[in-house]
Amino acid sequence: MSSDHTHRRWSNLRKVLERSGPFCRPDFEPSSENLQMLLEHCKVLVVGAGGLGCELLKNLALMGFRHLHVIDMDTIELSNLNRQFLFRHKDIGSYKAEVAAKFINARVPGCNVIAHNCEIQAKSESFYQEFHMIICGLDSIVARRWLNGMLLSLLVYENGELDQASVIPLIDGGTEGFKGNARVILPGLSPCIECTLDLYPPQVTYPLCTIANTPRLPEHCIEYVKVIQWPKENPFDCAIDGDDPHHINWIYEKSNERAVQFGIQGLTYRLVQGVVKNIIPAVASTNAVIAAVCATEAFKLATSCSASLNNYMVLNNVDGVYTYTYEAERKDDCLACSQVPREIEIKDSKCKLQNLIDLLCERPDLQMKSPALTAIVDGKYKTLYMQIVPSIEEKTRENLSKTLIELGLKDGIEVNVADVTTPNTITLKLRFSQDDSVSQ
Ligand SMILES: [Zn+2]
Repeated sequence: MSSDHTHRRWSNLRKVLERSGPFCRPDFEPSSENLQMLLEHCKVLVVGAGGLGCELLKNLALMGFRHLHVIDMDTIELSNLNRQFLFRHKDIGSYKAEVAAKFINARVPGCNVIAHNCEIQAKSESFYQEFHMIICGLDSIVARRWLNGMLLSLLVYENGELDQASVIPLIDGGTEGFKGNARVILPGLSPCIECTLDLYPPQVTYPLCTIANTPRLPEHCIEYVKVIQWPKENPFDCAIDGDDPHHINWIYEKSNERAVQFGIQGLTYRLVQGVVKNIIPAVASTNAVIAAVCATEAFKLATSCSASLNNYMVLNNVDGVYTYTYEAERKDDCLACSQVPREIEIKDSKCKLQNLIDLLCERPDLQMKSPALTAIVDGKYKTLYMQIVPSIEEKTRENLSKTLIELGLKDGIEVNVADVTTPNTITLKLRFSQDDSVSQ
């Protein structure tokens, strides 16, 4: 490619990177080296190759980022094609990350996108450590929380001081229908995903412990039939098809039986359809706006040419076009980023292990999914409960109906909790209320 072409190709970027301006950050120095740095060195990971991911890869590639990686475990479906524009009909069934990478590499000269067709949990610390920044275009809160935990675990503290070089910025975009948000997270410095966990809308999925043991909502009954009863009874000898009325009817009848059993009202056929199909509407233009914001923030962070978003931008196109930006705050005792051990108050001396697990799943600031609990009891390492390994689940199941006191857990004991929402083990300190007058 001729140097003249290269020069013209990036002429607009040069105007931003080679001149000073009123919005430049104080540490910005206009220079031709800025563009060189962007083109040659800056390494960015895009998480998710769906609606946001396609937009992000296209934007970044056209803005001069050349060392891009993309990670996604999903394969392409017909219903993706209206907005995930890097995919064609012939690509149905192929990995999203792979097809997206190939498309960009063929279309944008000099850009090198590397695909990882796997889930984010399959990659280790050393993988994530390689990047200058990470941009998330995910529809899963669990995956976001896990990634957030991963970046926090990469932080290096020396004598209590955070080593700034260990901070890998996380730019997070999210959309749902006509609403979206974008945020810039500097792990250890600015509010993290867990700091603002209670901002997330009510969960679409429910903790297994609740749907199995203490259903309260019609949705819990439907989830129970979908997740537990269907695989067990396998009524149609196949996986659930949300578009097959026979399937929906079967689930409707079974979840209705369960709702009656637990005295739960409000279960309708329509609700069954909604829960089974797990419908999250996708609007292409919302994705385009949020991805544009995220890519712009990536460019600003990479070049220092302008101050970063501080730190949470909200978009609402439901009724007109509305957007605002505000500064979310760090939570002093954030479980993920504060390094302050979290205390859990146990008010009832007859609190059972199951009650504690329910609490971890239901509290808005914890929202765990299937916590595994261990503790050092009387000097011995003890697994209290673990759901994900069937043999251990069977052995520890009886603990669920025991009280914490029967299990040897005393005031001040530290319980280690592992969960899919974080790559790290979390330590919770149990505090038993002293003024429990009803104890026997
Ligand atoms: Zn935090």
